[in-house]
Amino acid sequence: MPSNSSPLKLFTYCPQCGNPGFSADTEKSLKCGDCGFRFFINMTATVVALIRNEENELLFTVRKHDPASGMLDLPGGFVDLGETAEQAIVREIKEELNLNISKLGFIGTFPNSYLFETVEYSTLNLAFNCTVESFQGLQAADDVSGYVFRDPAHVQHKEIGLESIRNIVTHLLSTDN
Ligand SMILES: [Zn+2]
Repeated sequence: MPSNSSPLKLFTYCPQCGNPGFSADTEKSLKCGDCGFRFFINMTATVVALIRNEENELLFTVRKHDPASGMLDLPGGFVDLGETAEQAIVREIKEELNLNISKLGFIGTFPNSYLFETVEYSTLNLAFNCTVESFQGLQAADDVSGYVFRDPAHVQHKEIGLESIRNIVTHLLSTDN
């Protein structure tokens, strides 16, 4: 059963004809019983950066906003409309940490759900290994309140705010030698 914050449960009236009875048709679409208008719920792409320092510690950010305000996160964010994932990760790392990425390597994808205000969004995190030109000028900004370099093996799951980020760190540890 979808939760009350699921996009499948959020709407009552058809956005096309205005009649009531705009409801879930499948697990990922809504349909109007009167005019037949259909609307699909899609995953939103997000990007996540894994950035290491010379001691092989991982750069974690501290979340400024809910969900999971004050908890550890990895830098990244939503891919804008029309943007490539590569452009998005370069932009986000500049905005959040004032760092310039010099090299990118794709790791894999990690699904998540993200409750923002009253709506639960389904996201697909695209994770990248990132090398930066240097750490000079490193500064937390935007929706990041701080940063910390930590050995990921010593970070407890409960310190990390979002499930998909925990999964990425777990994946990283399973592939680290
Ligand atoms: Zn309708």
